[in-house]
Amino acid sequence: MAQRYDALVIGGGHNGLISAAYLARAGWRVLVLERRHVVGGAAVTEEIVPGFRFSVASYVVSLLRPEIIRELNLPRHGLDILPLDGTFTPLAEGSAPTGGDYLWRVNDHGRTIRELRRWSKLDAEAYDEYGRLMVEMARFIKPILGIVPPDPTGRDPREFLPLGGLLRSFQKLPETQQAVFVQLMTMSAADFLGQWFETDPLKATMAVSGIIGTFQGVRSPGTAYVLLHHYMGEIDGAFRAWGIPKGGTGGVSSAIASSARSFGAEIRTEAPVARILVRNGRATGVALESGEEIEADVVLSSVDARLTFLGLVEPGTLEPSFEDEVRRFKFRGSSGKVNLAVDRLPDFRSLPGEGEHLRGAISFSPSVDAMEQAYDDAKYGRFSRRPYIDMIIPTLVDPSMASPGKHVISCFVQYAPYHLDPSLGGWDEQREAFGDTVIDTIAEHAPNIRDVIVGRQVLTPLDLERMLGLTEGNIFQGELSLEQLFFNRPVPGYARFRTPIRDLWLCGSATHPGGGIMGANGRLAALEVLHGRKRSAA
Ligand SMILES: Cc1cc2nc3c(=O)[nH]c(=O)nc-3n(C[C@H](O)[C@H](O)[C@H](O)COP(=O)(O)OP(=O)(O)OC[C@H]3O[C@@H](n4cnc5c(N)ncnc54)[C@H](O)[C@@H]3O)c2cc1C
Repeated sequence: MAQRYDALVIGGGHNGLISAAYLARAGWRVLVLERRHVVGGAAVTEEIVPGFRFSVASYVVSLLRPEIIRELNLPRHGLDILPLDGTFTPLAEGSAPTGGDYLWRVNDHGRTIRELRRWSKLDAEAYDEYGRLMVEMARFIKPILGIVPPDPTGRDPREFLPLGGLLRSFQKLPETQQAVFVQLMTMSAADFLGQWFETDPLKATMAVSGIIGTFQGVRSPGTAYVLLHHYMGEIDGAFRAWGIPKGGTGGVSSAIASSARSFGAEIRTEAPVARILVRNGRATGVALESGEEIEADVVLSSVDARLTFLGLVEPGTLEPSFEDEVRRFKFRGSSGKVNLAVDRLPDFRSLPGEGEHLRGAISFSPSVDAMEQAYDDAKYGRFSRRPYIDMIIPTLVDPSMASPGKHVISCFVQYAPYHLDPSLGGWDEQREAFGDTVIDTIAEHAPNIRDVIVGRQVLTPLDLERMLGLTEGNIFQGELSLEQLFFNRPVPGYARFRTPIRDLWLCGSATHPGGGIMGANGRLAALEVLHGRKRSAA
């Protein structure tokens, strides 16, 4: 006889695990089915080079919702986020007005202001006011992370109630802040920052938060919103703005998995789901690739919308118009990752030695033009000749990731367009050339980089798709562009975690409020499932 659960969760990424934990906490019998040998999805730690443990994909944490940390007792299950201090932007010789050829902002406010003054007195003066304003903006918009989007075509006025609070908060904002909010919703990151600052490397280094995971450039309208999205975590605990989880981002997933198990959830790895079973318009369970069938009252899918609806649901089950909407949802992966195992630290020409500047983010973002040119390459189907790189050396903060004296280096890279120009062949032909381009870009600033590497892993968007099941390698299970957010994510009319199939729900980053190690999606989806069950029982 087939096994039976109250709920099955497809995919053991952090959101799937969070949904499972909340359902199990409510007393449900829950089973998570993960395709890979390890849980975590894009938040995973693996030993790729013997003796070196990597946050293979995602690498820093800021957005994880504090209520989830609290409600799931994550610190008791091992969650420990170590602060990451500062952003160092190395620059070519002769770029800076005086002193070193770099821009270095740290958590020590006085030092950052002195450093900015070296570049521009005006920017040093504007910096605090800008910071305060963005905190206000993030504080205003952040409640949206806890709202289930209403269906704008729906008839239930109760769905719109949570928006009332947001509207009232907007009305209470000073007029200048209302105007800034409109700017953030419509402008490009570079233009928005250009209203505040004149130092080019400062604008570029701040603007890149607006392009992470998008197929847009720093001058593309709409990227100012993505900038704001990345500010939302920064007010949860000021000094922990962005942090490195102990044990890598897999440490976050392990803590959530441990919490879910403590509430009674079961987790199976190497259990790829082949089909969602649907009978009379309602999900009744899943069939694994092994042929095993498992039944449940409710099925939640944390895999992206295209894989769920066009891959796991039997063709012909859904309305063609709904399938068309799913096909229209944009993925367009644009990021790659290069993980390096090194036996010494990189030595930067502009600030030599093993200083504090290596302990934070190292941002290869010398100018707004350079970032836009990096996008120009991608627009025409090529990886950037001089890409934007966000480099982190986690072992300086968490030495447990490698043996003493050795280090791991994580390089998040844009742009690496999923759809390459056909003349280049495919990503399997271009992988090593892409990796070499990243190393060459680093070597312009840290010439010893080639000598210190003892192993490397180059992940193209195609690899992200194959390894993590991220369609077109999009790191957020679908672009975080304005038209794909809130009640449009992933399909207009289906942003409330429900799907056209009864008892089939979505709970991953494909849903509101989008991607990042945030957990809001998994939590909100589970609460909606529980709420729905209570309503139908009443
Ligand atoms: C390269 C990269 C860098 C990133 N950097 C950061 C960062 O620094 N900070 C940050 O906050 N965010 C970052 N992100 C984004 C963030 O990691 C993701 O948005 C988030 O981890 C997604 O979590 P999820 O649980 O929604 O989905 P996923 O992590 O995508 O989990 C889905 C799970 O489903 C499994 N699965 C797929 N198909 C099946 C199937 N048929 N049967 C069973 N299981 C299946 C997958 O193996 C996977 O484990 C990054 C992402 C990538 C790829």
